[in-house]
Amino acid sequence: MTDYHPMWEDLGMDVETHDQLCAVLPQAFGDVYLSQENRPDAMAFWDMVVGEIHGIRPAELIEAQKNGQKVFGTFCVFVPDEVIIAANGIVTGLCGGSQFWVPAGEEVLPKNTCPLIKASVGARLGKTCPFFRIADMYVGETTCDGKKKAYEILAEDVPMHIMDLPQMKRECDYKKWEDEIRKFIKVVEDFTGNEITPEKLADAIKTVNAKRAAMKRVYECRKADKLPISGKDVLLMSQIAFFDDPKRCAEMCNKLADECEQRIADGVSVFPEGTKRIMITGTPMAIPNWKLHHIIETSGAAVVCEECCTGTRYFENMVDESGTTLDEQVTALSNRYMCNNCECFTPNPGRKEDILRLAKEYNVDGVIDAHLMFCNLYDTAGRGVASALADANIPCLTIETDYTDNDAEQLRTRVQAFIEMLD
Ligand code: SF4
Ligand code: SF4
Repeated sequence: MTDYHPMWEDLGMDVETHDQLCAVLPQAFGDVYLSQENRPDAMAFWDMVVGEIHGIRPAELIEAQKNGQKVFGTFCVFVPDEVIIAANGIVTGLCGGSQFWVPAGEEVLPKNTCPLIKASVGARLGKTCPFFRIADMYVGETTCDGKKKAYEILAEDVPMHIMDLPQMKRECDYKKWEDEIRKFIKVVEDFTGNEITPEKLADAIKTVNAKRAAMKRVYECRKADKLPISGKDVLLMSQIAFFDDPKRCAEMCNKLADECEQRIADGVSVFPEGTKRIMITGTPMAIPNWKLHHIIETSGAAVVCEECCTGTRYFENMVDESGTTLDEQVTALSNRYMCNNCECFTPNPGRKEDILRLAKEYNVDGVIDAHLMFCNLYDTAGRGVASALADANIPCLTIETDYTDNDAEQLRTRVQAFIEMLD
């Protein structure tokens, strides 16, 4: 394996503390992932990426910067990657999914902030994540209050642009989001020095749509009676998609989909017949947050769908590719991104409709509505989600959790009882 220490030192990282993270990750990955049997061969790509998660991709990004490209760090699926790609920029996700980063975040944030925000801020301030060091500009968005205030802290020593996301879905809100995308185009053009032409934006729209389509193909395979892939493996695919080059991501997801489709044709399943099918809904699961999937899939059930931003909300809905002017393309982008039913909108009936639709499409036996601790938006919405599922006679378990293992045993007991109840 390559020694990335010189690169991390050049990035100004706290290499000593970072080594502690590097020491525990392989064990955690081995326990959760490599212990699975009969995984698709194509998963070798994602295993390799995780094996050098702070090495391979950061090295590529640094090389691209040497060639004049700018790297934009994002925290939410509302930021239109297409705009950045059209200006020859590179997008990298920056959401923190490990408890390792939380204490550094708690030094500057209230303890009752969601772990995703605390981990993201901690990864930056603790200097223990290369992606936070590499990004030339951060792009935030006005989704939840916790993030909005955290962006002020993150902006102290990195250029930051905030997109003002509407909180409702009226016609004027779609127009407002168009205006925000137009402003973002200008910001990205100025920062990269590259003009965004309709031709370049059309290419970028096709590139990101192709990535979405490839991820969707893998998800489609999870609708089969015999599941060709575990939920944990698909979660890993989604998590890495936020960091990877979009064309390579599409290629690898298509390769995985080919294999899964062949497995379905051959009747190959990674779970015994009759395994209960669970859909997870709720807050995003940033890498390396594999906790709930691991508990479910080692308690006798399978995760067949994730209604969250590291799941369907990332790839569902394509951008209309027919636009030939920037105005038409911006409208198409706004229309697509405003389809996302994040709970930052009010009212938000679309999310309940999505959940009921997905529960049917993936033929689920039960839903686990999981929220990160202190996420006011999803926690409050949980009541409505549970009630909509009850009306549809779909069993639902609502849980609140964080990145620690403190509640793992208690969660396991509740999940096992829920799965038994499905029988
Ligand atoms: S849950 Fe909402 S705020 Fe969080 S990443 Fe998804 S869209 Fe963004
Ligand atoms: S999980 Fe909730 S509180 Fe945390 S960043 Fe997402 S929307 Fe905000």
